[in-house]
Amino acid sequence: MQEGSLEAPTRHPIAWQDEDFYDEEKLDAELRRVFDICHGCRRCFNLCDSFPRLFDLIDESETEMVEDLASEEFAPVIEACTLCDMCFMVKCPYVPPHEFDLDFPHLMLRARAIDHKKGNTGLADKQLAKTDRNGKLGTMMSEVVNWATKEGNGITRPLMEKVGGIDRKAFLPEYEETPLVNKAGAAIPAPNREAPNFGRKAAIYATCYGNFNDQTPGEAALKVLAHNGVSCRIEHPHCCGMPLLENGDLEGVAKSAEKVAEEFGELIDRGYDIVALTPSCALMLKFEWPLILPDNPAVQRLAEHSYDLSQYVVMLAKDKGLAPVPEMASKVGIHFACHSRAQNIGPQAMEMLKHIPGAEPSIVERCSGHGGKWGIMKDNFDIAVKMARPVIRNLKKADPDYIVTECPLAGPHLKQVMEMADGDAAPDRVGHPIEILAKAYGF
Ligand code: SF4
Ligand code: SF4
Repeated sequence: MQEGSLEAPTRHPIAWQDEDFYDEEKLDAELRRVFDICHGCRRCFNLCDSFPRLFDLIDESETEMVEDLASEEFAPVIEACTLCDMCFMVKCPYVPPHEFDLDFPHLMLRARAIDHKKGNTGLADKQLAKTDRNGKLGTMMSEVVNWATKEGNGITRPLMEKVGGIDRKAFLPEYEETPLVNKAGAAIPAPNREAPNFGRKAAIYATCYGNFNDQTPGEAALKVLAHNGVSCRIEHPHCCGMPLLENGDLEGVAKSAEKVAEEFGELIDRGYDIVALTPSCALMLKFEWPLILPDNPAVQRLAEHSYDLSQYVVMLAKDKGLAPVPEMASKVGIHFACHSRAQNIGPQAMEMLKHIPGAEPSIVERCSGHGGKWGIMKDNFDIAVKMARPVIRNLKKADPDYIVTECPLAGPHLKQVMEMADGDAAPDRVGHPIEILAKAYGF
């Protein structure tokens, strides 16, 4: 059951351009105010590692009072927040417009932004956030990079662990040989003129992961949308900046937003809908960017024209109907990823797969534990594995033929944790739900 506020949560613009935002005394006072409310509430005890760290910190202190804690003790709580937004979106009754005005994730973001401004972002965090640069290099030298980053590589992975803090056991995404946007001409099928939605136009935002690391969802999306009459193009103007957001680099995120909004603005003028392949990136376009640049009309306009992939297919189905989907009797376990939930659009993957006659989709709403780059770090990987286990347990209850998730990081993470437990019996792939629809269509 969904908890949270009785009214729809609203969010304030992020005041990252105000001096006050970086005032450490004011941050400290706000952390104490919010932590004290959370201490009395505790609804979020099992959402992530941030809240258990906070509650243990208070419970194990001498007076069990937030006001008596030292400010330095807050660091592990802030570090453990992956900015998944779950506490804000689905649990907290005190979010605005409530008078307590509590936005836990954006408070953690503010603390990170101050830390970033002080020059405290680590080398590995900075390098991992350069996803476009990494993607270009990774695809250019995919053979060598994929060899070097493979788990079990006894030469490179211990070194990466020592220098960059990346756990040697963690799966790291492989790189494709050619970015998806460079293959676009060959990869985009012509729109089906017989389909009810013929005439619609979609610019698919490839996103870093969909462009450089795993092109299966993008290729499936192109086929499904074209079969449904949508004229597609695939674009990747720039990273959405989510990894920079995790680092608290709000200026960097704003630059990404300005660039992408300008390029997509021209396509919106020409009648294109913007469809993001990755939920985290859709969340940035739709919600975070407008709060970071509230006075930028191009950013606001992009938000109004942006869709999550599953949401877009469901919208096509509601609008004029989908091209007939052949029967495919199969049970599909859907992991409802945090950034899909945080878009506040309901379980769109579930809705999408209900259009397959004979399919039995079921859903599990719980964090996979990966949390952007958080789950690959040495300090966090074992916790990320622990967090994935109940998700898998619940997914398996329905005895699914396929397990899917809209999050491209949660997918390989869940697969890795299943491999740890089940070896060869683990599924070959935990991909995007659009791949199941593409399969039903016979692609
Ligand atoms: S945003 Fe997510 S990770 Fe951060 S505190 Fe809330 S639930 Fe935990
Ligand atoms: S974020 Fe809200 S719901 Fe969660 S523990 Fe704090 S006060 Fe309670």
